[in-house]
Amino acid sequence: MIQHLTSPQAAQRWCKKIRKQHKTIGYVATMGALHPGHISLIDRARAENDVSIASIFVNPLQFNKAKDLEKYPRDEASDIKQLEIAGVTAVFTGTPEAFLGEARNKTTQELTDPGIYAKGLEGAHRPGHFAGVREVVSRLFSFVGPCRSYFGEKDYQQVQIIRQLAETLPGIEIIPCPTLRECSGLARSSRNLRLSEQGKHQAGIIFSAMQAANALWESGVRTPRLLQSAMLGVLNEGKIELEYAELRDPINWTGKQPESDLKQARVFVAGNIEGVRLIDNMALSAGNQA
Ligand code: AMP
Repeated sequence: MIQHLTSPQAAQRWCKKIRKQHKTIGYVATMGALHPGHISLIDRARAENDVSIASIFVNPLQFNKAKDLEKYPRDEASDIKQLEIAGVTAVFTGTPEAFLGEARNKTTQELTDPGIYAKGLEGAHRPGHFAGVREVVSRLFSFVGPCRSYFGEKDYQQVQIIRQLAETLPGIEIIPCPTLRECSGLARSSRNLRLSEQGKHQAGIIFSAMQAANALWESGVRTPRLLQSAMLGVLNEGKIELEYAELRDPINWTGKQPESDLKQARVFVAGNIEGVRLIDNMALSAGNQA
């Protein structure tokens, strides 16, 4: 039976008790609306630690549009059931006040700067989003304490911002996890539920575009502009309202796509299909499927 801790403070006490027993903790932070992508993180947290804990908290600070926060799907009972089936030891939930304290009333400009990985792409399209993410995650870690914490590479900029945050926090290890996809290549997301079958099929074009860039990379092309053209060639054939399709050097992050040839690269795509905003990314490398 899963333990439901109904405040982050209760979770803090629980985690302290676990550590006193010299057990390791695997932690997965979520906003609920769970899908197999989340469960893949849970499976890993369970496999690599003595106990596992998840949180469900829809963080108001990371929504740059009030309407998106309002529309965010919430079904706590069903999420907790899924976590129980997945074999999680404990889950914690709670109010914005309990999770965020006074920070819940701050504007994103008043929060700590989330750093270089917030520049460009999602940072440019969702102003204030990453400052809100950084704030809540630093608070989540203050409750859970030393642990291994699992984050999806689907949200690549997010995982890098959190990795940099964790470098300042003793005992917290960040484990980036690969993106779980549907058969069509579409990245699993809570938002996919809002797509029709046809929309889901059309959304497969995002993965095809990233694969086209990867095929060119495998053939030895390293010029960002050419790799980007390969993606745009595919995306322009589909029914996607494109926001961006760009490359970055994942190690030497810049707000804009670099012009000179890259030693390592990642592609990033965001666009709308049937009014649903989808994002995805992939490392370019020989034999890459992720
Ligand atoms: P969210 O509930 O959207 O905040 O996501 C919670 C965690 O699940 C984050 O670390 C996400 O990056 C991760 N996640 C979301 N979708 C996927 C996916 N398709 N594959 C792997 N991890 C994912």
